[in-house]
Amino acid sequence: MSVTSEDISRVLKAVPTELLIGGTWVAGEDTLDVEDPSTGEVLTAVADASPEQGITALDAAVAASDSWKQTDPRERGEILRRAFTLITERAEDIALLMTLEMGKPLSESRAEVTYGAEFFRWFSEEAVRIAGRYAVAPSGGTRLLTMKQPVGPVYAITPWNFPLAMGTRKLGPALAAGCTVVIKPAAQTPLTTLALAGILIEAGLPDGVLNVLTTSSSGDVSSPIIADPRLRKLTFTGSTEVGRRLIEQSAQQVLKTSMELGGNAPFLVFADADLDKAVDGAMLAKMRNIGEACTAANRFLVHDSVADEFASRLAERMGAMTIGRGVEDGVQVGPLIDTAAVDKVTELVTDAVDAGAEVLTGGSAIDGAGYFYRPTVLGGVHPSARVNSEEIFGPVAPIISFSNDEEGIALANDTEFGLVAYAFTESLTRALTVAERLETGMVGINQGIVSNPAAPFGGVKASGLGREGGPEGIEEYLETKYVGIRL
Ligand code: NAP
Repeated sequence: MSVTSEDISRVLKAVPTELLIGGTWVAGEDTLDVEDPSTGEVLTAVADASPEQGITALDAAVAASDSWKQTDPRERGEILRRAFTLITERAEDIALLMTLEMGKPLSESRAEVTYGAEFFRWFSEEAVRIAGRYAVAPSGGTRLLTMKQPVGPVYAITPWNFPLAMGTRKLGPALAAGCTVVIKPAAQTPLTTLALAGILIEAGLPDGVLNVLTTSSSGDVSSPIIADPRLRKLTFTGSTEVGRRLIEQSAQQVLKTSMELGGNAPFLVFADADLDKAVDGAMLAKMRNIGEACTAANRFLVHDSVADEFASRLAERMGAMTIGRGVEDGVQVGPLIDTAAVDKVTELVTDAVDAGAEVLTGGSAIDGAGYFYRPTVLGGVHPSARVNSEEIFGPVAPIISFSNDEEGIALANDTEFGLVAYAFTESLTRALTVAERLETGMVGINQGIVSNPAAPFGGVKASGLGREGGPEGIEEYLETKYVGIRL
């Protein structure tokens, strides 16, 4: 069913646009415009918080902390579970909101609603499984009791590329563990987080347990919060560059941090790969979210013997994709987030072509309203090209060939990043050997998507610290206390 302008007005009108502080919606010092990247037009305006309002939000999270941590785990779980149900019931409206502010096609926003909501269901179940242990000391006598306790007030900073899931992936475990939160979404996509906060209130979340700051001055608002000794945890998803800065700032108060940072995922296709599976996987790994995903395949490393065939099949599929406004029926590729993103992709493609790459499809931005770039496949990319070392964050697939497993693995690991890698092979031995040797936090074997709320998501090296999702996810919001007991 097509989206009408009435649908758009209704969905925009329903979203709160103020700051949520201590259970009350309050105006900002100013307002901040939210743009539709597919048209460049302003959708609406939200509150623009000042640094003082940031501290007021932290005050509220601190004030609510004691009672929230003492709430029965079952009650915390039930609130998350009710929020899961509400998100699911309102999936269409939330998907439309996300498409409007971020640009991705509606089908992808719907998939994100399913994925994002699932973190609330998963952590509603984890809330009641927080346990310690009891042991006899090896020398006898003393008993060793460990207990898990919420770490304390959390500051969560999220990016624009997955406006719902990046929020629920942090809020689910934090709230389940008994932590109160101040969350700051990216200025470009604040609406989904505001809608999510409204849903959590409706689900029964007590005042002050969740506070939302939208702001055009992320650094100025965040620094005093991070420097405040009452804050106990910083959880960040975004670029490695900003993550590094936040780790430095966190050192002052020795904050517990979770850092979900940038990626440069290799996508390895071995000589024995099933090419149908590999091309299907490549389409997902590259084109999900218009290539604007930390898990997006950034470098296609393909064995010499199949490189030409893989490249031409991928170029055919990518070249046939329908580009347009995400709200329109049948659109598969939406706009990039802004002009800077289009400029960066243009620069990287030009650099690769200058170094000898061949454009097999695409290769240019689309003139006119919105920030569109054509799905692009580059063949014969030289290893020195910038696309090999930098995160593309757009719909560009550079193909580099290798001649043996050792070379393929060495190329895959030749990056400062280590979030995810994909490998396509029909050999179980090769799959496991390669999975063991890849320097990444996650590996997809014969599949182009690894994200799953029941699995630990996260990277190594410059891709970050900590894990989100799975049984590991809640640990990030818990401290272990040991009690020694002499009997
Ligand atoms: P970004 O520029 O690092 O921004 C991320 C968040 O940090 C936004 O909310 C941003 O707010 C805020 N921010 C920026 N400067 C800040 C500062 N000095 N102090 C406090 N907050 C600050 O990244 P992005 O462009 O939004 O997102 C893309 C990046 O995120 C990519 O590198 C991608 O790989 C990474 N990412 C990683 C994962 C993962 O799980 N590993 C998942 C998704 C995305 P404003 O935008 O309002 O300034």
